[in-house]
Amino acid sequence: MFGKGITLVKLFGFKVKIDLSWLILGLLITWTLAQGLFPYFYKGLQTATYWVMGIAGALGLLVSIVFHELWHSLIARKFGLPMRGITLFIFGGVAEMTDEPPSPKAEFFMAIAGPLSSVALGLGLFGIFFLGINTGWPRPVTGVVNYLAFLNLLLAGFNLLPAFPLDGGRVLRSVLWGWKDNIRWATQIASKIGGFFGIALIMVGVLEVFLGNFIGGVWLAVLGLFIRGASHSAYQQLIVRRALEGEKVRRFMKSDPITVPPSLSVKDLVEDYIYKHHFKMYPVVDDGQLMGCVTLSQVKSVPMEERDRHYVRELAEECSEKNTIGPDDDAMKALTTMSRTQSSRLMVVEGNRLVGVISLKDMMGLLSLKIDLEE
Ligand SMILES: [Zn+2]
Repeated sequence: MFGKGITLVKLFGFKVKIDLSWLILGLLITWTLAQGLFPYFYKGLQTATYWVMGIAGALGLLVSIVFHELWHSLIARKFGLPMRGITLFIFGGVAEMTDEPPSPKAEFFMAIAGPLSSVALGLGLFGIFFLGINTGWPRPVTGVVNYLAFLNLLLAGFNLLPAFPLDGGRVLRSVLWGWKDNIRWATQIASKIGGFFGIALIMVGVLEVFLGNFIGGVWLAVLGLFIRGASHSAYQQLIVRRALEGEKVRRFMKSDPITVPPSLSVKDLVEDYIYKHHFKMYPVVDDGQLMGCVTLSQVKSVPMEERDRHYVRELAEECSEKNTIGPDDDAMKALTTMSRTQSSRLMVVEGNRLVGVISLKDMMGLLSLKIDLEE
């Protein structure tokens, strides 16, 4: 869901990206405001005015979410945690972290910064609203300001639900973490409560559908599903991270990997290697020298009928940070590289020599045994 967004702006060094799914939310909000909320509260205005108010309201929501996430990011950076940027998607926004917060204190302040900034913005907008009322601003303007003031308080309130990984759940986790000095236990409790909130939201959503509020009900149920999934995977991620901590690549790699010579034709590569071993990446070795690697996606770029006229050497990709790792590197680094480059196998290289291959499958296999035995 993340990563494919369009970059809108760069604020204080953070890239603000918008996922296409946010546009759906934006259109839905504009429509709801222009056809429902504004005509209900501000009767007697023209249809075009309601639409302008609706668009202004949706843009205001966008700015409010970015403001909220920006404060998370700024405080995170203050605690030395690198942030990838801010992404807006259908359920709002997310300030993407690259790592777990370094301490309970850091997590507490990072998590609380968003809702606090929304409360401050909401109160500020209420101030502007009263100023506008007292100095006779046009009704459509004060109407939008009033809506945005409420919206920011709502944003703060919703995010403060103690449903990990929402802000409130993070605050809860940081308190538990600080109390018992055990991040794993704290995450487990917080994500269980998060899962419970998810189910509660799904149930309320289903009830709403039966009571006739179809769109609102479906919305709540989907949001509940999302929170449930996110809290579960946040816990899984932590378990994996903990289990991998301090483990070296050497421990997970397979030595004596299957390699291919550069003179091999692409056709033979497919027949004799890919169909036989089912790997997606093969190191290319010539006379004991590592030349690079060849992957399934490169093979796919050669049309079927031309595969006997092309050779591995034409396709081979040079060794780089993207496809290699050292035997004494951290296993977590291998996992991060795999997820960044969307590959499931990396060449383990020492100096210029190929010493093995590490695969996601082998890592996961050993990992699940380790978690099983140490639980
Ligand atoms: Zn937040």
